[in-house]
Amino acid sequence: MTKITIAKGDGIGPEIMDATLEIILAAGAKIETEEIEVGEKVYLSGNTSGIAPKAWDIIRKNKIILKAPITTPQGGGYKSLNVTTRKFLGLYSNVRPCMSLHPFVSTKHPVMDLVIIRENEEDLYAGIEHQQTDEVVQCLKLISRPGCEKIVRYAFEYARQQNRKKVTCFTKDNIMKQTDGLFHQVFDEIAKEYPEIENEHWIIDIGAAKMADTPEAFDVIVMPNLYGDVLSDVAAQITGSVGLAGSANIGEECAMFEAIHGSAPRRAGQNIANPSGLLQGSIMMLNHIGQTAIAENVQNAWLKTLEDGIHTYDIFKEGISKQKVGTKEFAKAVIANLGNKPTLLKAVSYANSSHLNLPKYKRKPSANKDLVGVDVFVHWSGTNPDELANKIKRIESESLHLNMITNRGIKVWPNGFKETFCTDHWRCRFKPVEGVEISKKAIIRLLENALNENIDTIKTENLYSFDGKPAYSLGQGQ
Ligand code: NAD
Repeated sequence: MTKITIAKGDGIGPEIMDATLEIILAAGAKIETEEIEVGEKVYLSGNTSGIAPKAWDIIRKNKIILKAPITTPQGGGYKSLNVTTRKFLGLYSNVRPCMSLHPFVSTKHPVMDLVIIRENEEDLYAGIEHQQTDEVVQCLKLISRPGCEKIVRYAFEYARQQNRKKVTCFTKDNIMKQTDGLFHQVFDEIAKEYPEIENEHWIIDIGAAKMADTPEAFDVIVMPNLYGDVLSDVAAQITGSVGLAGSANIGEECAMFEAIHGSAPRRAGQNIANPSGLLQGSIMMLNHIGQTAIAENVQNAWLKTLEDGIHTYDIFKEGISKQKVGTKEFAKAVIANLGNKPTLLKAVSYANSSHLNLPKYKRKPSANKDLVGVDVFVHWSGTNPDELANKIKRIESESLHLNMITNRGIKVWPNGFKETFCTDHWRCRFKPVEGVEISKKAIIRLLENALNENIDTIKTENLYSFDGKPAYSLGQGQ
């Protein structure tokens, strides 16, 4: 018996949760449930996180949570409960299988069967944002080696376990050579440990276009957080219905399972919602807790029910569907099909689908890190980069010299183009004279000089080399 936390959520949440639990319990799921309240009521009671501290205790004790969709009230500083939960509990891996169910669910892609594995904790979703000048705001994109290793290894282990043939990596490392470059590099390193699985890398833009056009070319796709957020919805949508997909959020200790759709408030309380998305989430949960035979039975019964043409309103189609049913009747039909397998759709076998045991990340030995310069960001409302260079040169010291100025990344000094549009946010790069070693004191002196010259410095970024290799990007056009 496994104790799990359930959250019935808002809108159609309670109905689809009841239907899902009824089905999996009828199939013999050995689970005991403990309910917590999350979502709209909690938000509106004045708790901007949407969850009470007591509920966290229950989630952390049971470690497994099955969560129905919640309604996030519009405006008013309410925090997304999903993002908070993923990060608090370290749920680094978001797994979303996207499979078409042709001809029972209309789709332009009848043979699509892919799984998106999205990094779930870092990237631009660290949410570290600042306004720096009148004209410029910034969001920090953080990519870490542990983050990359964990998600890429998860993708390969998942592929191996599920007998999938290929893992594809999507990044934009032709532009973001440090951040996406690290993700790609770790992908190449780890891929070598799985010689039986094909691996490939696509630049995200053309990769996404290919996925939307020819999804059958892909099997497992792994990617950083933001790309994964967008593309996992695209992938689910082109199977024919976002309403049919579930997702798993997996961490080293805890895991959360859910439908990918929202709380559909307009459909609530009418016994019409399709419980399939949450049911798919619950099947991933049963696999995760080792109840694979029950998961397999439920999945095959669900496929058979769709094949029988017993459909809720959202996928009902004259000519293909046989019977339009409500939430409860759909659950009853799946229960009646327990023990049956589909004949046209492919029956599943989950013999080896229990949760993946990944090695814990081990920190690597530190590299030799040398300070080799500094970028000083300056708020200046002039327009002529040569004029700024003359001002900035006044703060140079004997060890640090102005090397370049960029505006939004593009080099504007020396030898900029007058056509380049400039904002009030300037990066001034200082480098030491060839052969001279510098320390942080040199940077402090530079900033003191700037203060004396009335130059508005807004931040600095130190330039380092790691093991002798420069570890920062060049200016565009440099
Ligand atoms: P939605 O997914 O709730 O609804 C989109 C459309 O799909 C609607 O027409 C809806 O009726 C239909 N639909 C969705 N699920 C269905 C189902 N199971 N059966 C039948 N029809 C279904 O998206 P939305 O309208 O943008 O969002 C509604 C609320 O849900 C918002 O408050 C949003 O913040 C929240 N939301 C929550 C989650 C979550 O908790 N994981 C995810 C997305 C949206």
